[in-house]
This record gives sequence, C-alpha cells and structure tokens, in this order.
Amino acid sequence: MSSPTLAVIGGSGFYSFLDEPREVEVDTPYGAPSAPLALGSVGGREVAFLPRHGAGHAFPPHRINYRANLWALASLGVRQVLAPCAVGGLQETTPPGALVVPDQLVDRTSGRVQTFVESGAAHAPFADPYCPTLRSALLDAAPGAVDGGTMVVIEGPRFSTRAESRSYAAQGWSLVNMTGHPEAVLARELGLCYATVALVTDLDAGVETGGGVDQAAVFASFAAHLERLKGVLADAVARAPLPAADGCVAWLDAVDPRHRPDRGLTRD
Ligand SMILES: [Zn+2]
Repeated sequence: MSSPTLAVIGGSGFYSFLDEPREVEVDTPYGAPSAPLALGSVGGREVAFLPRHGAGHAFPPHRINYRANLWALASLGVRQVLAPCAVGGLQETTPPGALVVPDQLVDRTSGRVQTFVESGAAHAPFADPYCPTLRSALLDAAPGAVDGGTMVVIEGPRFSTRAESRSYAAQGWSLVNMTGHPEAVLARELGLCYATVALVTDLDAGVETGGGVDQAAVFASFAAHLERLKGVLADAVARAPLPAADGCVAWLDAVDPRHRPDRGLTRD
C-alpha cells in the first residue's frame, strides 16, 4: 500500500468515509489527533480519513486539537485536504440543503492556538485561504454547488444570537461555522492544499423567524444530506489532480529553515 497523499476531515455527523479501512494510531508533538486515522482507497487513490470531532463527537469545536490533526495527516504523507463541514446559512442564496465551496473566511474565534510558529519570521500568506485546485475539484464534483462565499468561524459551542447573526449577514458573509479556523491556516502553515465544502443545515438565527437554531435540527439535516455529501467527496477525490508544488506549499521555500512551521515533518 502506498501512503495517502489526500485526506478527508469529516465534520459533525460525518464519522466514516472508507470501506474496510485500516486504522493507524499516530502521535504528534502536539498530542494525539481526534481519532486514529483511517486509511483506504477511493477512486484509485490512497486516502486518509479523520473525523474532526473524534469518535462519537468526543471533542466540541473549541476543544479539537487542530494542530495534532493536521500534523498527523501531514506526517503520513498527506498533501491535500478536503474538509467538509456543517454550516448555518446567512443569506437567501445559501438555503438549507445547499452545498457551498467558500472562497473566504473570517476568524471570530478566540483563545484557540492557531499556529505552529514559535520563533522567527514565518508569516503564512492567507489572502486566499483555500486551494484553488481543490476548490475546482469540489465544484466539478458538485453540480449546483454555490461557488464562493465567506464563512465566518465563531468560537462556539453556542450558536449565534440574532444580533450577531444579523451583523454577519449585513457584512455580506454567507455562512457561519465553528471549525473552519484554525484548521485552514494550520494546513497552510504545513504547506498542505486545503479546501472546504460546506453543507447548509439551517438558516442562522438572524435570518430565520422561528425559535432560532437548535442542535437536533442541525444534526437531522446533516444526516439527511450525508450520503450526497459523501458522493461529492468521492467524486472530488477522483477528480483532484495529484499534488503539485503550488502556492499552498511554495511559500515555505522563502522561510528560514530554522523557523519553518513544518520543520520536523518528513516529506516525500
Ligand atoms: Zn494548493
């Protein structure tokens, strides 16, 4: 078996992806990832799968060890990450059931460790937080998906107030989520290509007129669309070109080797 060069990080309600996977326990300088990594084949490619929240949703968004998750994947040889997630919709253009491949994010988390950098000058370029190549693969795999949009990532675990939600919508942002940051920037720091596909499970509190967002409705909506999302991901895996030295990794070449955030990782 060759080592996996692509990984899928499953979000809420998305705890398995591969048929008859081999499980590997991986430790990292940052501790253990959310779960053992599952390895298997999809569309002729070796793929790693990691449930972001751990088995049985052990880790809420603010307690996920994002650094361990990304480091563990990279240490196995992964260079591309597809990161599905559940989101609330903030605009009429992103109704429940829609799939969205966002092109921007806004960080409204607080207190999360969001870097591997501990010394020196290593400032990851993040103007475009998602890999354009992987975004294209996801859009090609999901006809009808919304191309682009801004996802605001909140600290959670509570949902937004109506006032917060209205203020996000007023900015023109289209999605709200609790896990997209720091996952995306940690991937960039390790030179991994990374893109997300978001499933809109509900309208956020400022948009809908009922009793606000509730967890049961979010999980039920996600479950209803899970098989469709898995199909899109399998197709995107098959469509994704093999890893190439694009801008997601090339920026590291300009960083002093003593201060590279990925120092200590072995890379093919
Ligand atoms: Zn890339």
